[in-house]
Amino acid sequence: MDGATQRLRIRSEQVRILYDGLWLPMVSVVLVAGLLLVSLWSVVDQRQMLAWVTAVVLITFARLGLAWRFQRKQPPAEAARRWMIGYAIGSTASGLLWGACGLWLFPVSDFQHQVILVVALAGIASGGAVTMAPVWPIAATFLILTLLPLSLRYLWLGGPASLTAAAMVWLFLGFTLAVSHRWNRILRDNFHLQAEGETREQALRASESRYHTIFQASPLGMLHFDAQGRVTDCNDKLLQITGESRERFLGFDMLESVQSIRVKRAVQRALSHGEGYYEGDYSMLTASGPALPVRILFSGVRDDQGAIVAGVAVVEDLTERRQAEETIHRQAYYDALTGLPNRRLLSERLAQLMAESAHRGEHGAVLFIDLDRFKEVNESLGHSVGDRLLNATARRLTELLRDGDIAARVNSDEFVVVVARIRGDRQQVIDGVNGVAERVMSALSEPYHLSDRPLLVTPSIGFALFGEEQSSATGLLKQAETAMFQAKTEGRAKACGYLPSMHTAAVWRLNLEQDLRLALEGDQLQLHFQPQVDGDGRIVGGEGLLRWLHPKRGMVQPVEFIPVAEESGLILDIGQWVLDQACEALMRLDARQLPRLSINISPRQFGQPEFVASIGRGIERSGIDPSRLQLEITEGVMIDNLIETIETMRDLKRIGVGLAIDDFGVGYSSLSYLKRLPLDELKIDRSFIQELDNSNDEAIVQTIITIARNLHLTVVAEGVESAAQRDFLLSNGCHIFQGFWFFRPLPFDALVAAINDCQSTA
Ligand code: C2E
Ligand code: CA
Ligand code: CA
Repeated sequence: MDGATQRLRIRSEQVRILYDGLWLPMVSVVLVAGLLLVSLWSVVDQRQMLAWVTAVVLITFARLGLAWRFQRKQPPAEAARRWMIGYAIGSTASGLLWGACGLWLFPVSDFQHQVILVVALAGIASGGAVTMAPVWPIAATFLILTLLPLSLRYLWLGGPASLTAAAMVWLFLGFTLAVSHRWNRILRDNFHLQAEGETREQALRASESRYHTIFQASPLGMLHFDAQGRVTDCNDKLLQITGESRERFLGFDMLESVQSIRVKRAVQRALSHGEGYYEGDYSMLTASGPALPVRILFSGVRDDQGAIVAGVAVVEDLTERRQAEETIHRQAYYDALTGLPNRRLLSERLAQLMAESAHRGEHGAVLFIDLDRFKEVNESLGHSVGDRLLNATARRLTELLRDGDIAARVNSDEFVVVVARIRGDRQQVIDGVNGVAERVMSALSEPYHLSDRPLLVTPSIGFALFGEEQSSATGLLKQAETAMFQAKTEGRAKACGYLPSMHTAAVWRLNLEQDLRLALEGDQLQLHFQPQVDGDGRIVGGEGLLRWLHPKRGMVQPVEFIPVAEESGLILDIGQWVLDQACEALMRLDARQLPRLSINISPRQFGQPEFVASIGRGIERSGIDPSRLQLEITEGVMIDNLIETIETMRDLKRIGVGLAIDDFGVGYSSLSYLKRLPLDELKIDRSFIQELDNSNDEAIVQTIITIARNLHLTVVAEGVESAAQRDFLLSNGCHIFQGFWFFRPLPFDALVAAINDCQSTA
């Protein structure tokens, strides 16, 4: 409460007391006036007397009326001033009347009656001095108005007795003024005290209510306990956090029954030193209850003398914070898709494992695993199948692990397995790691059942050992990755151990992609043509084969750069370029010179939604007869999604191009689907031809030829290097040959020359 409001309150209190105490004095006033009327009737002017009494009664009634209205209205503090003025007018009028009485109704000649009048006025003055004391100016005015005229009257009378009387009246006036003033002081002090008390009480109530609000609405659990550590109160939040009922909390002894010695100590400290703290997992009341991660601040509550008489505990539930921390940790260290550790966590754990191994004299290995053709799976079957494949891979890897080993996913389709605690000499270690690599290989090569068709995916694995020489985790991972690239280069679905020489190869590979981009733009690519001949040596077709004349490295073989082109996606542009070159060649040579030309289509190309259309456009632009162009695809193309593959092949047949299955025999060799494909030609892989001396392969080649003939497909034998091979094939029903025995792949001009040469000898 500020000063102004306090003054306002005090004034309204003064006014209230003025009006409250008005009844009794007013009744007395009327009584005294009545007594005076009776006793002075015979000695004063009766008309004056009557008039005076009437005036007194009227004023009294007016004042009573005012008091009555005041009681009824209970006016607000702001109106106190007006009511005070009203009172002052009434009291002043009353004082004037009593003064007038002392002046005009003074019985000059009759001493006895004078005494009556003086006593009456003194009585009235004393009464007024007390009842009007709440506002001293009002009281003083009233007293002076009442008594001064009487004293003047005595002065006027003259003579020693009258002068003495006048002096006595003054004395009395002074005395009543002093009494009234003193009363006023006491009252005012009282008012102040009261107002201050109220202010204090109000502040206390406000603070209490504030605390109560905080206690109840706090986002923190709170409880009060007494000096003995017994819980006396707790808020709803605490019940909510702990899931306990209030009844269970109330009376709970935090010194005796508490579960944890650390909590007990914190309570004790709060009660002895004023503060205690606990942070950790804690089950509030029963050991069987859920253990919550909490932080509790205990504080002692002190009395006026500073002695601790109770305590408060503030309980913060850290569950959410803990969860958030765990989430952040998970996101930072684990792969969201598979739940495996990510590269960061792998690096940390690997470094740790390497240190431990070195310390124990043990060995370990890092296996870098990359899924072959994962991009194609993603593109042809969709990302959800890709994701499921990665998950399944992660599961298979985890199942292979022993305690202490790590499986991590470090990139889209790249996994790392760390095998630790391999003991023995170097050879035993290498054998052990090879065993692990084999197990990983066979586990990941099992068909995946993720869509309607079983999906076959192979891994390329590179591994590097640790334990002997000191190396860094990053360096080791790099080595394993390099070895993995080597495995890819060697034809995928392989495991390679790291050799220092691979480092240069890896650097070369890294540059290869960039160089290949430039090659495509800068005329470094060439399409060579390897003629195919029949039993009589006539050229009946050819295969287009890519060559890259690298400005620094010379001729780079397709086995080296095709995988890079596939992985980087460059194969799409390259494939387009090959198609254009082949069409141009067919344009420049008529059907008699070169009846047919085959080109190789990479699986990635084949899976493109735009693929059929681009073939159609190429043929249209060049105006060639579509049946002279043949597309060679590998079995890998149709493994993932047979239905879609058949669709695409049918579309191609509609355009009119021929379709050949390349490298037949090395792939997935499921013969059942061959029947369903709109194929024209089957190419026996050259590895079978080259091993023809081996009787087992003879049988294979014979089988392939039989199948092809049953399916009414043309069979082409690839990689024929000797007359013996040709004769064997010829006698078994294969009539078309491609191989160094006849021609190597030739530049266009050399092809033309070879054709002309053939035709002139024929
Ligand atoms: P491929 O489709 O099996 O091609 C036949 C490969 O056998 C060619 O190797 C060819 O030079 C080789 N060859 C032919 N006759 C003989 C022989 O008598 N003895 C031996 N040892 N080899 C013979 P090249 O040209 O190195 O091509 C390798 C592979 O690169 C091809 O295998 C094909 O898969 C891929 N490739 C080549 N050109 C293209 C292309 O334009 N596009 C795509 N996607 N792949 C291509
Ligand atoms: Ca081919
Ligand atoms: Ca081939």
